[in-house]
Amino acid sequence: MIKKITITCGFLFLASSAFADGKVKWGYEGNIGPANWGDLSAEFAMCKNGKVQAPIDISSKGLGKATTPVKTFYHNSKATVVNNGHTIQVDLPDGGYASLSDDDFNILQFHMHAPGEETVDGKRYPFNAHLVHINPGDSESDTERGKLAVIGIFFQEGKENAALKPIFDVMPAKVGKVVMKEKFDPSKLLPKSMAYYSYSGSLTTPGCNEGVTFYILKTPVEMSAAQLAQFKKIFPMNARPVMPLNGRKVTEGS
Ligand SMILES: [Zn+2]
Repeated sequence: MIKKITITCGFLFLASSAFADGKVKWGYEGNIGPANWGDLSAEFAMCKNGKVQAPIDISSKGLGKATTPVKTFYHNSKATVVNNGHTIQVDLPDGGYASLSDDDFNILQFHMHAPGEETVDGKRYPFNAHLVHINPGDSESDTERGKLAVIGIFFQEGKENAALKPIFDVMPAKVGKVVMKEKFDPSKLLPKSMAYYSYSGSLTTPGCNEGVTFYILKTPVEMSAAQLAQFKKIFPMNARPVMPLNGRKVTEGS
């Protein structure tokens, strides 16, 4: 009975909050955590009904071979550092593009998770960045137009990460945004090797929309313990649990 009342109140709360700002409240813990995302809003239904959801645990054994390399053609961009209430996201309106599976994708933004979302053979890194790209398409009728692709970068604890520093120096502790004084070049985030795992997945946040291709770089980069603590002070935990593979094949490329 108590549970039923809670659900009713929760629904009313969500309905009113949706009415107030057009956004359904979600998070990483408790009633609004990942296990319940699919029930928070009709628009989040894929979070529970989707069959190719992200992130996943990547098994490094017996992978199929991908034949194309991940190539990036990034450059300095105007950069806006956004605290959207779920992560720190850096919007890069003119940061260049990446060649992924022989198609060009423009970088839109990157954002960060603590701990890292994808795992490899069950190993979880303390932090990762997802660089989100969109296929601009060759024309309005191009069926690939608007498709998303994500390059994932793992971070392990080590020396201070110079690329993250100017972002962490200004990232807002509360919801809000800051335009960086300097431009930002996303290639500064990349490891030396672009060897990768690839899988088909989804957004790892509600609405969990599918049709997102992931290119997870195998080689981690470093960040300091102080930097990790700095991020976790704002977002102590913002990783969705790994989702079932449901028969998906992961590939690897170099
Ligand atoms: Zn992400």
